[in-house]
This record gives sequence, structure tokens and C-alpha cells, in this order.
Amino acid sequence: MHTHSNYPLVFNGDGLDRLALRRTDESWLTASVSDPATRFVPMAGEDNLLDAGGAPLLLDAQAAQSLQAITQCTVLLGKYRDHVCFALGLNRDASLPAGAVRSNLRPQFPVLEDDALALLGYARAMVYWHAHNRYCGKCGAQTRSRRAGHELYCTRCGHIIYPRVNPAVIMLVTHGERCLLGRQPEWAANRFSTLAGFVEPGENLEGALRREIHEETGIRVGRVRYLRSQPWPYPASLMLGFRAEAESTEIRCTDCELAEARWFSRADIAAGLQAGNLALSLPGSSSHALIREWFEEAPGFMLDAISSTR
Ligand SMILES: [Zn+2]
Repeated sequence: MHTHSNYPLVFNGDGLDRLALRRTDESWLTASVSDPATRFVPMAGEDNLLDAGGAPLLLDAQAAQSLQAITQCTVLLGKYRDHVCFALGLNRDASLPAGAVRSNLRPQFPVLEDDALALLGYARAMVYWHAHNRYCGKCGAQTRSRRAGHELYCTRCGHIIYPRVNPAVIMLVTHGERCLLGRQPEWAANRFSTLAGFVEPGENLEGALRREIHEETGIRVGRVRYLRSQPWPYPASLMLGFRAEAESTEIRCTDCELAEARWFSRADIAAGLQAGNLALSLPGSSSHALIREWFEEAPGFMLDAISSTR
């Protein structure tokens, strides 16, 4: 699908060949896990791991073998920079290889290359999925991994569990020359973002979007337009980005999910960023891109020209 703009979204992983057809090729898989060119992307519990130089920690087959006793799962990720890569889910309190550092991915957005973030995000999503599906939801027996870690099956009743992604809608609501941004209670007093929420069973994307906006702000929206998506591994949400046009403007925060919601003109945003009393979400996030695309549609408004957002 054609993307709306050039603003990069992290985790989009265009550079990764997932080698999906190899997931059932047992002889290839057996050879790959001991191939010296193969790399393993370890995680300790839910923490991604970086090497001493700040790059993704990549282990060779010998190093991965030495961690076998504390390995919970192994998942084929695909080909990354000419190396076949597997995610390696290690115990949360695993003693790490020398120089390895635990890291949340958010601080790495401005630091790591897009393909490295996509690889780490994918590893995180798959290891998280394994860790949360150790037992069958139907009969409670233990599950076991197959298809190179992309399928879990119940050892008693045969129930099969696939890695699901959770659709979530994220939207910039506009009205004339203003946009609607909200602040969550746990955020800093100056941080504002687009509205977002999970899609519920029985709901389509437009319905979820209208419901979330109305629940959080009391605003009714009319026309909505899909822009693009971002796979977000916290945990496994697919963020579907929209623009929505408001048909009302009176804000009532009723469900208490937001501490505050406000209409901002482009001039309000520029002034707030310059004065330091407004902070947006990190560059690379859907929220940032949605706001930025709208902001820069008007002549004379460029986010990069405002130094505090770099
Ligand atoms: Zn079962």
C-alpha cells in the first residue's frame, strides 16, 4: 500500500525476509540452528538486549547453545542483513553474556537503524507470545512449539494457538484548523498525543474509532480516512492510523481514561513546543507522524524548524 508520507514509523520491518516457507522445512531448520552464520536474538524475560556498542545483541550458534538450559523458546524470525536469525527467549533473571545490556525499545527509537528496531520488535512480540501461552486455554495442559516457533499446540487436546495481533485504532481528530490531542493521567503535564484504543470483538475499525473518541472526549466524528499502520510490539498491537473529522467541538472527558483533552491550532502547537510547555510522542511513533503530517499541511509550519522536537 502506498504510504501517506515519508515520516518513518519504527517497527515496520520492510528489510526483513521472514522466510515463512522455511518454518516447516525441518532439515533446513536443523541445519540453520547450528550454522556458524546464523544469529540468535536473545531476550531476557520481556527485556530486549543490546551489546556493549549499543547494537542489537546477536549471538552465534555456539553462544546460543551454551544458553540452552535457560532457553524458553526459539523462533525463526527470518533473514536480517544476510544472516538467518532466530529469537531466543531466555529466563527473566538469566545471567547475561559479558557486555550485554537490558533495554526497553523506546529509548532506542532515535538511535537504532529501522531494520534493527524491526528485528528487536518482532523478537519481542514472538517471545512475549510464547511466554503468555504456556498452557492451553481450553484444557489447561502444557503447550508445545512447532513450525519454527510460529504455532503452539496443546499436548493433551490438540488445540492450536497462533500468534494473534490486536488491532488498535489511533487517530488525529481535526475540526477546521484545529486538532484534538489528549493527555493520559500518568504522563508529564505537558505531554499530549493523538487518541487511541483497542478494537473490540464485533466492532469494525470505524466503529471502534468513533466509540473511542466519544468515550474519551465526548466528540462526535463524521468522515474518517485510513492512512497507514504500524506493528507495535507492546504487546503485539497493530496500530491502524486514521484522520477523523469532528462534527462537534465540546469536550467532555467522561470515562477518565484521559486527564485532559484540548483543541490545538498549528500556532498553539508551534508556540507550545518552542516554549517547552508542550511535548509530543517520540518521532517514529504513529502519534508523532499523524500530528506532523497534519501540522505540515499548512504553509510555513515545519516541525523540524522547531528545535525542541528534534
Ligand atoms: Zn488442551
